[in-house]
Amino acid sequence: VDSNIQYDMEKLGDTFPGFRQKYRLIKRIGEGTFSTVYKAEDLQYDRYENAWDFEKENDKWTPLPLKSAASSMTLNNDSQEYVNTQKHQQLQRRRKPKFVAIKKIYVTSSPNRILNELELLHDLRGCLSVCPLITAFRETDQVVAILPYFRHADFREYFRKMTVHDISVYLRSLFTALASVHSRNILHRDIKPTNFLYDPETQRGVLVDFGLAEREGIDCKPCLCHEDALTRKTRLRAAHAASRAPSDGYPKQDTRPSRRANRAGTRGFRAPEVLFKCTEQTTKLDIWSAGVILLTILSRRFPFFNSADDVEAMIEIATIFGQKRMRQAGQLHGCMFETTIPTIGTFGFSFERIILWSTCRVDSGEGLSDGEKLAVEFLTRCMDLDPSRRISAEEALEHEFLQMALQ
Ligand code: ADP
Ligand code: MG
Repeated sequence: VDSNIQYDMEKLGDTFPGFRQKYRLIKRIGEGTFSTVYKAEDLQYDRYENAWDFEKENDKWTPLPLKSAASSMTLNNDSQEYVNTQKHQQLQRRRKPKFVAIKKIYVTSSPNRILNELELLHDLRGCLSVCPLITAFRETDQVVAILPYFRHADFREYFRKMTVHDISVYLRSLFTALASVHSRNILHRDIKPTNFLYDPETQRGVLVDFGLAEREGIDCKPCLCHEDALTRKTRLRAAHAASRAPSDGYPKQDTRPSRRANRAGTRGFRAPEVLFKCTEQTTKLDIWSAGVILLTILSRRFPFFNSADDVEAMIEIATIFGQKRMRQAGQLHGCMFETTIPTIGTFGFSFERIILWSTCRVDSGEGLSDGEKLAVEFLTRCMDLDPSRRISAEEALEHEFLQMALQ
């Protein structure tokens, strides 16, 4: 183990009194934008034996008093179920996990953000395929969250080897998590391979990292993409007439109100409505990101999108979808999409073409297999530029491609 990591682990042991009696740090397993995650052995895992009786009396969640006096506090354990079948869950209640993931949240994160993450995790306890929160500690400005350790492999190690059936199983697990998160009107906002821990051996996965998640419809201003058909028609007609009037190019004194929208997420996985700064974002933005994961697997290219900023991201998406559909997508959110970039054609390319290109099958004339065609049909439903037409997680589980996993 690297001496810096060793030093950080030593320091973590001092975070709060009794840490070393509770946990034995094993190794660092992840370093993200907002936290460092360690694998540890839970030395007192029996202490949760009566967690279920305990929970009945303590079913009210007490938010962390982050701004109050410095003292370490323990939040009650709630749920340790993190496996797919009910039978497993029952077993799991008796035989508690021995290994935990300790997420040390950077002290520079805002207290609201940390509280939001812990509260959402608490709301999502018991959700299928979502990694639950066991407990959390705070000592002055340092918060650590304790999660059951979930064995998983690095996405880059297995995504090129997946068969169509493997892909279906992987995505069914991801969409099961999304369906339960979305049914609670929560948007994850950061769906990507490193936030979906998957074990190819057991073919089980769990969704982690609710650091950017939010409740749907909070702080949203109405966006045009939710207007009814007649209003939209009238508005588009007016906009079209206005666009034919003489224009001086980009307005010098732009009097239009500037647009502000939540753009949190990871580049390459942001949905078009996020890039168009839609003010009324829905759970459908997670579906787009899940679609990008599927496109990555089918094309065997990671990362598939590699833009440095939102404008580049828009160009990449436009290259696939073409100017015509991008213009329509922009109009949904009251945006004009104009470009003179020669590689962005009028009609773009089909996903089938893109996958054949990126897997070097164009010259050989080899086509997609029937399974791949079904996957592409599903991909088209996930990566629909119009969020209102995009498939929901619930519908996705009924789709023939995800049904394949059950066979
Ligand atoms: P961040 O907000 O810093 O991205 P995450 O919650 O995504 O934090 O965790 C970062 C990494 O730590 C993950 O990509 C994963 O490799 C590892 N990790 C997180 N939670 C667990 C867990 N419960 N079991 C095993 N590994 C985990
Ligand atoms: Mg993460």
